[in-house]
Amino acid sequence: MKKESIKLPLREEIPSKLTWDLTLIFKNDKEFEKELEEIEGQIANVENRQGSLSKGSTAFLDSLEAILQLERRMEKAFVYANLKNDQDTGNKYYQGFIARARQLYAKVGAGVSWFEPELLELPIEKLKGYFNQNTELLAYKHLIAKITAQRKHFLSAKEEELLAGAADIFSTPENIFGVLNNSDLKFPEVRDAKNNLIQLSHGNYGRLLESPQRSVRRAAFTEMYQVYQQFQNTFALSLAAHVHTHNYLAQKRCYPDARSAALTRNNIPVSVYKTLVEQVNHHLPLLHRYVSLRKKILKINEVHMYDLYTPVTKIPARTYSYKDSQEIVLKALSVLGNDYTARVKEAFENRWIDVVENKGKRSGAYSSGMYDTAPYILLNWQNNLESLFTLIHEMGHSMHTYASNTSQDYHYSDYSIFVAEIASTTNENLLTQYLLEHTEDPHVKAYILNHYLDGFKGTIFRQTQFAEFEQWIHEQDAEQKPLTAKEMNAFYADLNKRYYGPDIFNDSEIAYEWERIPHFYYNFYVYQYATGFAAASALAQKILTEGPNDYLNFLSAGSSDFPIEIVKKAGVDMTETTYLESAFGLFEKRLDELEKLITKLS
Ligand SMILES: [Zn+2]
Repeated sequence: MKKESIKLPLREEIPSKLTWDLTLIFKNDKEFEKELEEIEGQIANVENRQGSLSKGSTAFLDSLEAILQLERRMEKAFVYANLKNDQDTGNKYYQGFIARARQLYAKVGAGVSWFEPELLELPIEKLKGYFNQNTELLAYKHLIAKITAQRKHFLSAKEEELLAGAADIFSTPENIFGVLNNSDLKFPEVRDAKNNLIQLSHGNYGRLLESPQRSVRRAAFTEMYQVYQQFQNTFALSLAAHVHTHNYLAQKRCYPDARSAALTRNNIPVSVYKTLVEQVNHHLPLLHRYVSLRKKILKINEVHMYDLYTPVTKIPARTYSYKDSQEIVLKALSVLGNDYTARVKEAFENRWIDVVENKGKRSGAYSSGMYDTAPYILLNWQNNLESLFTLIHEMGHSMHTYASNTSQDYHYSDYSIFVAEIASTTNENLLTQYLLEHTEDPHVKAYILNHYLDGFKGTIFRQTQFAEFEQWIHEQDAEQKPLTAKEMNAFYADLNKRYYGPDIFNDSEIAYEWERIPHFYYNFYVYQYATGFAAASALAQKILTEGPNDYLNFLSAGSSDFPIEIVKKAGVDMTETTYLESAFGLFEKRLDELEKLITKLS
């Protein structure tokens, strides 16, 4: 398991061409430290401006720009500290950097926290007057409008103070969940594929469920839920309390319900959520067909919940080196035009990517950057197809960041979570299409088709299932109906049965699945995974048939408008059903292909 202690190279042993070049941010650590000191010195200057917003348009503009300037410098310093820390999390020196950057970030946050409440208290007429008097303010119009749109949900200063003071108390249920789930629960030992006894954990559960050996995945599944069954009442109480705070706050802030409160912040119409749930339900027969196909390929009489994650196709024997993968990425993305691929080459050539694993390096992969840094990528490269998909995914994020940064002013450069996964998943879709067209080997083809179908299942179907559950628990609480483990288990078991269809065996354990999902402690968040994936599926098809121009406009838009409007620029209206139908159409087409291929291969 802990292979890094045996053979992973040390950070300093990695050839520099495979590491990211952080001197593009600060020439050296000294410059970073100097910048931290200067930022700290600027905080008072921003704090002292409290009360300035009502003192005329020039004072207003000066304060706004001083705040943005400070935040911009802080973000840059933070990115540097964060990347330095992640490249070797065991390095004490850089642990110190990130700790200091975090502390300073909090100080900056506190120093600028007066701005929004003060803006919300500024009379509308006065603010309108500012825009007439000072045309320079027009550059910030949408930014200010986004904040002032919350005006009717803002309470009196006294009430706001009371709520702000209780923020810790409101997050207690989530904290209880975290401690219970991550440290108090003890899982038993189970046997792995080599018949070794290993300690079951959140970390290895997913891998055990993917085991080709059925007894291994069955044991992991039953033992895991054995534990959750014992604690169902505590989990239910903490989740119900969490949901209750959402409903309470939404009501006090004059929203029709908690979901509206969560979506309104990004100006997402509730119809987007409702349409997603309706369309997914309408297309559940496709998921049922996929479950039957699994049953057929795995040659089992009953499909249990623990049979849904094991690969149904052999992992391709061919390897994908980093060098070959760079070529494939450029070819697959060539449909986005020369400017786009020139920027991808820039990422490869200018060392924006930290490629290989070393001792202490943060696991997984991500794209991270801000207005004044390159859009860096962290990878833990393995020579396989999964790594190729990860590379093109993160490149999608980085090219989105790059396009928004070069087209927008700083204050509109950051795109919202609602659109973030669209750029990365569109790239994955383009890669899938490219690989399907350029692969002869039927086994590799089957693997790629299944990779797509599994991704679709896990993102569109599963996240919408979660979204339905999340909506239901909020409704139960709002209607003052009981929300104990008994009700949650029953609802969840039915929901699961409806999603996976007639071929799924009713494992009683699955009723407890809601207990272990941390996302239920977010706030109407998961539906965005599903909408983002579907939009990307529709966009990739549009790029391949109509060309990339609309899509490139979307990439450049940053947060210059509300997310729904920005996606419209790419030609996808997420308040309509068309984009979802297009995504399900592609799922069906690829399901057909895999069914045919499997018949031919068997
Ligand atoms: Zn992503």
